[in-house]
Amino acid sequence: AQTAQEIEESDLSRRISVNTKDELGRLAATLNAMIGRLEKAFQRQKQFTSDASHELRTPLAVIEAESTLALHKDRPSSDYRQSLEIISQESKQMSSLVDQLLNLARADAGKEQWNFTEVNLGMLITNLSTDVEVLCQEKGLSFQSGQPQDLVVKGDEARLRELFMNLLDNAIRYTPAPGSVSASLRREGQMAVVAIMDTGIGIPAEDIPFIFERFYRVDKSRPHAEGGSGLGLAICRHIAEAHGGKIEVESQVGAGSTFYVWLPMQSD
Ligand code: ADP
Repeated sequence: AQTAQEIEESDLSRRISVNTKDELGRLAATLNAMIGRLEKAFQRQKQFTSDASHELRTPLAVIEAESTLALHKDRPSSDYRQSLEIISQESKQMSSLVDQLLNLARADAGKEQWNFTEVNLGMLITNLSTDVEVLCQEKGLSFQSGQPQDLVVKGDEARLRELFMNLLDNAIRYTPAPGSVSASLRREGQMAVVAIMDTGIGIPAEDIPFIFERFYRVDKSRPHAEGGSGLGLAICRHIAEAHGGKIEVESQVGAGSTFYVWLPMQSD
């Protein structure tokens, strides 16, 4: 009892040492397992805060350096324009990161607002395809979307759109020209399966178990401006699971990746 009372947030690595096989021993083991879970949760929280601060610090440092430089002495207007463009781009990145962080915080607190309706996945993919086609063209990639199908799920249309758009953004980002990206939909038993495929750089097998974790990036040395926040796939997984579904990936380095989103169909 005394050890349990002494254990605080700052020393969650401590355990209660009762090694008897009676009720007291079982109680100590149960408490130890609980302290272990709390310790892990605190560690994750600390890591999350430190990663989030780090992610925000980079664009802030660029904004500060760029504005200090621009204000240092009089410059031609084209220089000011260039500085403002950089500042604007970094602010947009920060703003989208803060939105993602807020969404995740709401999700963690169980305070998300879901607006579940009947969503026709075929139509959703067809609507997305128009935007994706343009993005692919800009990068010199081809885009195919399979035959439209009438598969209806119960879901939050805006969040499902966000999920597929994140996956398609990644497919485009990690596929060099002249490659291709595709989105297709099929039914498997009581599940609808959306597959987002690309012929891009692929993901090493040892990284695959971690890519759905918050802030995880395969290429840690990648320049900040080139990539997203590392939160995209964590959000995708959360949205899929909140719909009673799941997300999986198959990938081969140098050949490409396919992300599968499984969603339960509306039962008749
Ligand atoms: P990011 O914002 O960095 O893209 P994500 O959470 O969306 O973060 O993805 C995590 C990591 O998984 C990425 O940094 C990238 O290394 C890898 N990844 C995601 N999608 C793909 C893809 N289609 N092809 C190759 N690598 C990918």
